[in-house]
Amino acid sequence: MSVLSSCKDMIGSSFLCQCGLTHTIPLRHVIIKQKAEEDVPLIVAELRMGKRGLMICDDNTWELAGNRIFEMLSDKGYDIGVCMLEQKPIVIPNENAITQILLKFDPSTDFLIVVGSGTINDLTRFISHRTGKPYIIFATAPSMDGYASTVSPLLINGFKRTYPAVHPLAIIADTDMLCSAPDDMILAGFGDILGKVTSLADWQMSVIVMHERLCPVAKNMVQRALEEVLSKASQIAQRKPEGIQALMEALILSGIAMMLTGNSRPASGSEHHISHYIEMKYFMQGRQPLLHGTKVGLAVLYTVALYNELVFLDPKNIDIPHLVITRTSYQEWCQRVNKVFGPIAHEVIGSNDSKNWNPAIYERRLYDIKEKWETHLKPLISSVPSLNTVKEWLHTAGANFTLRALGIEESLVEEALLYAKEIRPYYTILRLADDLGILEEKIKEIMNLV
Ligand SMILES: [Zn+2]
Ligand SMILES: [Zn+2]
Repeated sequence: MSVLSSCKDMIGSSFLCQCGLTHTIPLRHVIIKQKAEEDVPLIVAELRMGKRGLMICDDNTWELAGNRIFEMLSDKGYDIGVCMLEQKPIVIPNENAITQILLKFDPSTDFLIVVGSGTINDLTRFISHRTGKPYIIFATAPSMDGYASTVSPLLINGFKRTYPAVHPLAIIADTDMLCSAPDDMILAGFGDILGKVTSLADWQMSVIVMHERLCPVAKNMVQRALEEVLSKASQIAQRKPEGIQALMEALILSGIAMMLTGNSRPASGSEHHISHYIEMKYFMQGRQPLLHGTKVGLAVLYTVALYNELVFLDPKNIDIPHLVITRTSYQEWCQRVNKVFGPIAHEVIGSNDSKNWNPAIYERRLYDIKEKWETHLKPLISSVPSLNTVKEWLHTAGANFTLRALGIEESLVEEALLYAKEIRPYYTILRLADDLGILEEKIKEIMNLV
């Protein structure tokens, strides 16, 4: 039984979880099968979404499936408007794209239907939240894990921030279409799932160091989905339906896991922060963006390497008084952020809690880290696979995520490793290395290893 099938009972239901929270998965349908587009009118009717819809797509996804779905819905008496997002060479989730959708949005619109993958979904999820109109997704590529997400990463004023959004009512995908999606999109999906290796470890680290809540259901869901994808890496490389199906299911399950926790924790850690950092710098430099999962697939090589390096740390060498005295002050940190982030520095400063720089809090955290190193932290850090294993998985899936292949400068990755932690308040391996005063030296070491 696939991981998604084993979670089917949870979809559309509420339950009291071991983590102490009552979770609700309001997503009602996940349909991944051949000729799935034929189910769209049926699903819209069953969900009683109303008669007036707005389809959000781009010219590629319109050709791929949008026009057929438009015709099928029109034949059934639905009145469907179309917003074909225009932004060359690719759609960016920014103010411009939001305006394009709102200009096509009529107050009498009953529902939204997205035909597409990454960015188009990020935008529609946000618009659905702001307008209160429900939406369904017809997914065209297994390229990212935001399908079932309830947050929307948008690039506003050049800063990539996660905005509150809303879940879809249904996710529908055609297996044949997913299998024939462009190679770079499928490999980006694989990269996004591979990123869970360190996002799950970072989350557990934060549970140990920051006493953050861990939801075992969400964690196991992502862990099992990750394992399923890794076990089918060669079928993904060969575009076999069972491999692509597992990948798509894992991407949706990652979103469902985020639904459970109400944040991006189960599916996004330091590897995602590095990806966001690179994306923001690309935007500032006016460069053509890379796919989200591609950057995550590259970044996870570095975050895994950092985990591997920390296995050798001897807690006796954690010199707490020295670290507390030499720690960067909040003022110094603000100055550095201003220098590194320029026009978006105030956003970065605003997204961090200044009390993290309080010397007493920092000192207490260091004692906690030292005390829990052998019992909790080292076993967790050691459980992260080796860099060679991760490289092997990428190789088996057919992904070539190297700096040279992606055209990313080594200096940009170095910079991202150093500063990506500032863009999200979450505790990760990057923050641990920084707390221990070894982030810079470890970055130099891992740059030679990857
Ligand atoms: Zn992702
Ligand atoms: Zn839970």
